[in-house]
Amino acid sequence: MSISEIKTPDQRSRRFIFIPFCLICQAFQAQGIVRHGYSATIKPIVEEILRHEINIIQMPCPESRLGGYENGLKRGPKGISKYDTPEFREVCQRSASEVTDMIKAILANDYKIVAILGIEFSPSCSIKLQYSNKGTFHQSGIFIESLKSQLAKEKIEIPFVGINRRGMKKSLKELRELLSQQKNLLDF
Ligand code: SF4
Repeated sequence: MSISEIKTPDQRSRRFIFIPFCLICQAFQAQGIVRHGYSATIKPIVEEILRHEINIIQMPCPESRLGGYENGLKRGPKGISKYDTPEFREVCQRSASEVTDMIKAILANDYKIVAILGIEFSPSCSIKLQYSNKGTFHQSGIFIESLKSQLAKEKIEIPFVGINRRGMKKSLKELRELLSQQKNLLDF
């Protein structure tokens, strides 16, 4: 059957969101740190996305990729300074390049990308917050930094929203406001 012979209207959403791998797969987090009440998916965020009928793309998990998934899944938590190695930067660049290629293809097909989500305090996927033994400081995770830089080179602008598992109300509000504005702007 050709496309011109299909009579029923195509009902797909034309909007996409890119999410960190662990947003719907908490078991990919480092061992010992899944303790904010979300055992498998970060439900309030996922439910908000579902309410808006947005296509969801799960980005790679760079930390569990490092050295292969079998070992990656057993990893313990480490700060960003420990992750900042040429080997890990290479994993992040490769992952960011895959995501960038997908984003370019989606935009070239006239779909819209409403946001890219990160996980605050992740050495890889945070948008702006990190921990150290001296407290909290501002720095994007290494994967997000690479993704931002690759998108900037392509002159692609997409809002980034950091999900803070300790401040879920604020994260949810920020996401909800963004998705509502984008709905008005972008629905066909
Ligand atoms: S590296 Fe990113 S996707 Fe993987 S567990 Fe950490 S925050 Fe989640």
